[in-house]
Amino acid sequence: MDTADDFFLDSVIQVRMPSWSRGRIAVAGDAAYCASPPSGMGTSLVLTGAYVLAGELAHHAHHGNAFARYEHILRPYIARAQHLPPGVPRIASPRTRAGIHTLNTVLRAASQPRIAKALIRFPVPPADTFTLPPYGI
Ligand SMILES: Cc1cc2nc3c(=O)[nH]c(=O)nc-3n(C[C@H](O)[C@H](O)[C@H](O)COP(=O)(O)OP(=O)(O)OC[C@H]3O[C@@H](n4cnc5c(N)ncnc54)[C@H](O)[C@@H]3O)c2cc1C
Repeated sequence: MDTADDFFLDSVIQVRMPSWSRGRIAVAGDAAYCASPPSGMGTSLVLTGAYVLAGELAHHAHHGNAFARYEHILRPYIARAQHLPPGVPRIASPRTRAGIHTLNTVLRAASQPRIAKALIRFPVPPADTFTLPPYGI
């Protein structure tokens, strides 16, 4: 880290905004509803959000109505994606030696096919529980 010229450090956060638009400006993706890396949902959310925003803009004469529909359609999906299983952020970003040891143990165990199969049954963010509206675009 002392010698690297491309070292980058940031905090692991979620973005929760009371509104995703103001006037003629709307936000999508991490800027609006970052679910944080441990969710594994960021790419799904930004692509889905961009699709819905574009679809609603194409179907409403007034951008304000499109922004309202965009938010109405996506809010429940975003809320589910941001709801991480208990302890996940802390386990994924350990702050102590014991935490690092726990993370490594969990990752080692998860690489075993039988355990990986069992872990899949745990509740994870629902990437495939959102049905894309058929905008015909
Ligand atoms: C360590 C890490 C691991 C991740 N792992 C996963 C994963 O496994 N699965 C998953 O689905 N997601 C993952 N994500 C999340 C995923 O990368 C993001 O959710 C996704 O990239 C968000 O897309 P976005 O277009 O909203 O934002 P970004 O991809 O951040 O794009 C924003 C762009 O805007 C540019 N920009 C910023 N300011 C300006 C400006 N003033 N003018 C012009 N351009 C500007 C930036 O340079 C950037 O290119 C991970 C993220 C991190 C950090």
